[in-house]
Amino acid sequence: MDEARRCLLCKKPLCSLKGCPVHTAVPECMALYREGRLEEAGKILFDNNPLSAITSQVCDWKQFCFGHCILNAKGVPVHWYSIEQEISEKYLFSYELKRDFSASLEMTNKRVAIVGAGPAGIAAAIWLYRAGADIDLYDANPRMGGVLRYGIPAFRLDKKYVDIYERILDVPGIRFFGGKALGKDILLNDLRESYDAVLIAAGAEKPAMLRIPGEDKPGVVEALHYLKTPQAYDLKGKRVIVIGGGNVAMDACRTAVRSGADTWVYYRKTFENMPANPMEVEEAKADGVQFRVFQAPIEVRDGAVIFRDCQNETDPETGKLVTRILDGTDHEVPCDVLMPAISEKPDFGILAGAPWQPNVWKWPVTDESGRMSFQDSGKANVFVAGDFTLGPKTVVEAIGSARAAADGILTFLK
Ligand SMILES: Cc1cc2nc3c(=O)[nH]c(=O)nc-3n(C[C@H](O)[C@H](O)[C@H](O)COP(=O)(O)OP(=O)(O)OC[C@H]3O[C@@H](n4cnc5c(N)ncnc54)[C@H](O)[C@@H]3O)c2cc1C
Repeated sequence: MDEARRCLLCKKPLCSLKGCPVHTAVPECMALYREGRLEEAGKILFDNNPLSAITSQVCDWKQFCFGHCILNAKGVPVHWYSIEQEISEKYLFSYELKRDFSASLEMTNKRVAIVGAGPAGIAAAIWLYRAGADIDLYDANPRMGGVLRYGIPAFRLDKKYVDIYERILDVPGIRFFGGKALGKDILLNDLRESYDAVLIAAGAEKPAMLRIPGEDKPGVVEALHYLKTPQAYDLKGKRVIVIGGGNVAMDACRTAVRSGADTWVYYRKTFENMPANPMEVEEAKADGVQFRVFQAPIEVRDGAVIFRDCQNETDPETGKLVTRILDGTDHEVPCDVLMPAISEKPDFGILAGAPWQPNVWKWPVTDESGRMSFQDSGKANVFVAGDFTLGPKTVVEAIGSARAAADGILTFLK
């Protein structure tokens, strides 16, 4: 409560307006919290972001709310995220999903297919169901949650926060089909015809390749793949090298070190360039992970990886700082398991068969609500959301785009 009382309840709250991708109503909920009206605050948070009990734990809050608190000027920003966590958790675990009393009759008998039961798909399912639509939710994985279940390790996010959505979405009018992959078990053209609207929220799971010789050797395991089923790998006493500096790299190295591996992260730039939440990098170091920066892998051999040194230089033409790989610096590093974690992208191959319009980058052409354009005269009733349209981003940004898509679907269906 002392923390909540420090909040200035700004009239123009930068934490919300500028810092938060879903514009969480921080001052309003903070004021209710101070008065002990947690249920009301919880409803406001849930209605705006049904996964607020999760985002309050996994958001890089220095980048979002906390980093924009006006009290940063005095070096004492308010820890809103921990108050949000307290309010949201209480609300979430007693939540019952019901149609909104005001749900429009126009939505009755409207059927929406959602492909992907990650944060974007779950949030959209909740909003669309409440507005009156019936939902069929398809996922390639057997259970709901997306990266929250099959990526972020349990030591960072207790799976009870993911399991609860299986209970919440278990209502008449929502059906979950686990183990059904778009592009394989179901086809987009069939969904377009069978449903009034389709939302594709299939994430960004296609790992980028290192494109070096030996990458196909058995000792190379994609970090994202490892994080799905870490229990399937016995890494005790093995020397594991993770390549990359993002969230996936940090989760992979912290999971590997916990299973008894001698774990290293090799990254081609500096610590400051790492896209991962800096706190996670520090926690990985505290866990016992060792880091080497300015190192680029060149070749995978049996039991070793060849690295080349890198350095930062100013490009004489652009004046920008660039990282150069230095010839003549090759050195062999022993390695039992190499885990590339350099980037992921959406797999647009799952849209196979439907004549969608790719832009120059092979990204689907959409309007601001994520509605896709097609080259045929079939139904233009397909929307995209989350990492599938944003590229690999964050949970809260995926939810923000799901909101736009859900609103777009409602407007389209009415
Ligand atoms: C290891 C890791 C750690 C991360 N840590 C953080 C963090 O700490 N904080 C943060 O904010 N963000 C983090 N992120 C990013 C965040 O998890 C994503 O931005 C977010 O999950 C995107 O949500 P989504 O619903 O769009 O996609 P996803 O969560 O990826 O869900 C997509 C779903 O679609 C399903 N799917 C895929 N293809 C098909 C298909 N063909 N047919 C049917 N279903 C399909 C998948 O099985 C999955 O369930 C992390 C990401 C990873 C990979």
